[in-house]
Amino acid sequence: MKKILPTSIVGSLPKPAWLAPPKKLWSPWNLEEDQLLEGKQDALRIALQEQQLAGVDIISDGEQTRQHFVTTFIEHLSGVDFKNRKTVKIRDRYNASVPVVVDEVTRQKAVFVDDAKFLRKQTDKPIKWALPGPMTMVDTLYDGHYKSREKLAWEFAKALNEEARELQDAGVDIIQFDEPAFNVFFEEVNDWGIATLERAIEGLHCETAVHICYGYGIKANNDWKKTLGSEWRQYEEIFPKIQSSNIDIVSLECHGSRVPFNLIELVRGKKVMVGAIDVATNTIETPEEVADTLRKALDFVNIENLYPCTNCGMAPLSRNVARGKLSALSAGAEIIRKELGI
Ligand SMILES: [Zn+2]
Repeated sequence: MKKILPTSIVGSLPKPAWLAPPKKLWSPWNLEEDQLLEGKQDALRIALQEQQLAGVDIISDGEQTRQHFVTTFIEHLSGVDFKNRKTVKIRDRYNASVPVVVDEVTRQKAVFVDDAKFLRKQTDKPIKWALPGPMTMVDTLYDGHYKSREKLAWEFAKALNEEARELQDAGVDIIQFDEPAFNVFFEEVNDWGIATLERAIEGLHCETAVHICYGYGIKANNDWKKTLGSEWRQYEEIFPKIQSSNIDIVSLECHGSRVPFNLIELVRGKKVMVGAIDVATNTIETPEEVADTLRKALDFVNIENLYPCTNCGMAPLSRNVARGKLSALSAGAEIIRKELGI
């Protein structure tokens, strides 16, 4: 990335109400078949335009073509029954109705590759594509076949690697794996979580990122955060191993959180997508607030490695609020560029 402080979003943006009812997760589609395909592409065009208007440098699809960041990928694999769902507790925190693994999981066909090709055609800017990470996938379904979180994670890593290679060939510049589960299951992260993530990026020459956050701004997550005390030190448990992994970029939650900035030092040498936009509030940050977060992060990450970003996806927010936050992100990064005479 030649531009200093290139901005991006973690992944999701709110969908237009004509495509899916707003402000909720797993929102059902309002359209069907050909109209749905067309509707998703139109929403993708809008997501692109809104990022471009706001001055975002690395473009994402806004996750307009998927119902959910984890289950949509899982539903495309064979060996998974997504009609007869089961309710599980996700990240030890909230119940959700999820698909069930009933047989060996394999990826028979591409999941997002056509969408990525479509986005690639619409812009010359670098594009980033988010996939769920193996551990977070394991944690977002019911396993009635392998009966081993680790075994299932290795199978998912294989499927993710196949998808990632095709996304790379479609012209994606950065492939990001979302691993909010890394902030919860530390022992498993260090035991097999990072190893399976490295399996997912095997053989890739594009850049790779891992996104680790405290979740969408939904009530279950906000309630959980209240139990985490005055300092959130979860990253401390997993950063040493991530630092020595092959992952290029680490995407973090910072702004409005209680994560001590000095923990970023533990991934020194990696590129860091610093969350400078809080997705758990409807209040739009001022550019100065964004700049302040970036300034604090600059004590622990070299400027050429600092990528201003959002804390997490913005799917549950209103479109107006999301637009405002995108603009604030760009304006905040620009304040720092000017300050440093860039
Ligand atoms: Zn997140």
